[in-house]
Amino acid sequence: MLKRTGYRWLGFVVIAMALVVIGVPALLVRGCTWESREPVQKGGLQVKLQVSPEQVVSLPLEQYLIGVVAAEMPASFEQEALKAQTVAARTYTLMRLERESPDEKHPNAQLCADPGHCQAWINNAEMRKRWGVLGFRSNYKKITTAVEATKSQVLTFNGELIDPVYHSSCGGRGTEDAQDVWSQEVPYLKGVPCTFDTPQKQEPVITRFTNEDLFARVGIADTAVPAAAGTSGVVEIQKLTESGRVKSVKVGSRVYRGVDLRKSLGLRSTDFKVTAQGEEIIFSTRGYGHAVGMCQYGADGLASRGAQYNQILAHYYRGTKLEKVPR
Ligand SMILES: [Zn+2]
Ligand SMILES: [Zn+2]
Repeated sequence: MLKRTGYRWLGFVVIAMALVVIGVPALLVRGCTWESREPVQKGGLQVKLQVSPEQVVSLPLEQYLIGVVAAEMPASFEQEALKAQTVAARTYTLMRLERESPDEKHPNAQLCADPGHCQAWINNAEMRKRWGVLGFRSNYKKITTAVEATKSQVLTFNGELIDPVYHSSCGGRGTEDAQDVWSQEVPYLKGVPCTFDTPQKQEPVITRFTNEDLFARVGIADTAVPAAAGTSGVVEIQKLTESGRVKSVKVGSRVYRGVDLRKSLGLRSTDFKVTAQGEEIIFSTRGYGHAVGMCQYGADGLASRGAQYNQILAHYYRGTKLEKVPR
């Protein structure tokens, strides 16, 4: 009896090993074959990309865009939202390629993969790491579809490529006027309504600071803080933007721009309320990002309500035109 169970067990092991030996490489080989079949056409525009301080690579534009969309928007988003993101990424890329003077930060490349400077980009290895083997196959296909379906399409305003800025979530408040964030009037970057972010994204996030920590972060020495320290008067919102975000705020005796305080404190957005509790100052922040241009979670929400990518783009970038390049 014991012996028979033992053999049966051995049988399972042999079958399992056979599956591993034959199955896994088959999956890997199929994966590679599928990937080497170039999903987008080669040739045409090339992008010189600084991927690391040491490395510059040259990629066909549409191939580059797959890595940008993969890095800039969750692949789980609706197909139409991914298409809208692709058009924004293509527009930004071509706008940068049109520049004549080399970039000071990376003179040998037109763009870099740093989202804080140009736009984020990841390679296939990084996508695999983030999504796993199976996730890679389906997400890569989904993003490639978005890139192919919008091939050569860009956004223009008065015949010029626009600067299609975007942010993660407006928190349901609607988008912000570029003027209120960068003190620059941009006709197609005006505040528009957006109630399409998921309920979860519309929930406030709480951040607490001690008075001391807060003052240190905004560069106020303790001596500069008036006797009001420790009371709710220490942080006082002065002015709101048209959309209802913080335009200026008083900390101690100094007035800061909302965008500057957001940066100093590392807040998610300028859509915050402040309360004091004992020695603590509590910030309740909604949304994520500067709130200008396309709201990514809003775009996904619009897509799930049946909006097409061109409608999504027209909603967030008012007055722009969807065109094909070369124009
Ligand atoms: Zn850059
Ligand atoms: Zn939104």
